[in-house]
Amino acid sequence: MIYKRSSALFAEAEKVIPGGVNSPVRAFKGVGGTPIFVKEAKGAYLFDEDDNRLIDYINSWGPMILGHAFKPVVDAVVEKAQKGTSFGMPTEIETKIAELAVSMVPNIDKIRFVNSGTEACMSAVRLARGFTGKDKIIKFAGCYHGHSDSFLIQAGSGASTFGTPNSPGVTQGTAKDTLLANYNDIENVKAIIEANKNEIACIIIEPVAGNMGCIPPKEGFLQALRSVCDQNNILLIFDEVMTGFRLAKGGAQELFDIKADIVCFGKVIGGGLPVGAFAASHEIMDYLAPVGPVYQAGTLSGNPLAMAAGLAMLTELNNNGSIFDSINEKTEYLHRGITKVLNDNKVVHTINRVGSMISVHFDEAEVYDFNTAAKGNNDTFKKFFHGMLNEGVYIAPSAFETWFITDALTFEDIDFTINAVNKVAKSL
Ligand code: PLP
Repeated sequence: MIYKRSSALFAEAEKVIPGGVNSPVRAFKGVGGTPIFVKEAKGAYLFDEDDNRLIDYINSWGPMILGHAFKPVVDAVVEKAQKGTSFGMPTEIETKIAELAVSMVPNIDKIRFVNSGTEACMSAVRLARGFTGKDKIIKFAGCYHGHSDSFLIQAGSGASTFGTPNSPGVTQGTAKDTLLANYNDIENVKAIIEANKNEIACIIIEPVAGNMGCIPPKEGFLQALRSVCDQNNILLIFDEVMTGFRLAKGGAQELFDIKADIVCFGKVIGGGLPVGAFAASHEIMDYLAPVGPVYQAGTLSGNPLAMAAGLAMLTELNNNGSIFDSINEKTEYLHRGITKVLNDNKVVHTINRVGSMISVHFDEAEVYDFNTAAKGNNDTFKKFFHGMLNEGVYIAPSAFETWFITDALTFEDIDFTINAVNKVAKSL
């Protein structure tokens, strides 16, 4: 494949945008080389500035579950745009999408729309703190909840249970209120709660982790979290930015039959426009301004174009529930195919999958938390990534990311992909 124009555009971008990108993972730092500039996309395919066609397994990091330029979404946005793009005043469509979301997701009464997953998680934590009157939060190592200060925390040294900033600019004062736990380790969570009695407002978790590859919760782990939260007056926040409206109509809450206290959304809920949301019971949500004391706001929140895109997307998913079966079947077919060719080529690997989220780790041990995910062979991953790209298949440019499957993929596309894995595996 030729990437002449992409490389030239990247060189231009680097002059005026830090690192040439507006979000770091796009820069290919994890795999080397220069990023590909997209010209347009349709269905399961990306077309880059050099006119290469790539089968897309990232799908804008999740939102494009029904493929790129999905007609009902595009039509809805175009129609709305002609009537004005932002008012900063209430519109009927905000209530319509709220009603639909509340009807699709178990256990929520009210929802507030924001502009990103980061905003959703940041606001959910503030709400949990305001509601419980407590300051500390527990998050899990390797889970990502956006780039707000409270989440940019790594494990502290030695025996300390509180974290330290993992980015300059995050203060020690903020870091001391974020406690780091190991994913899938309920004893670790209990010990942290014990050491911080009556100080923890909430536990925030990706119910299926998708930011260290795809990591399923172990049997009983989420249930145990629910119980310890109940026993200790701690709110359980499910960050369903990736899993919401993807793993099932009602997301991970429905899939695992667990009730979270606050649920965060992003990605699919905006149909590819900048949307996030957080939702909970009447009691918790009415703690938000203007009814309650916890402040949260946004000039472009509930933006009409974003709401039109989201409403078109959710309507499609709501009316055609078989999409979830279809996409799961496609992902299972991909999973089986990749497993076979990697085994045939004796490539050491582990594949994790939940529904239409899947990741390939180049290590044979079980991958169930951040430490086990970090053991994967990154050199093999880099070769795999570039080999797949050369074959016309775009996977995430980082070993720590999940592949997001779109229902726009055909079985022929998946066979093409499996064939590409077979070719690339011979060179690993
Ligand atoms: N939460 C999860 C689970 C995510 O995967 C992401 C982004 O990838 C976020 C929150 C932050 O969302 P955004 O990038 O829209 O701010």
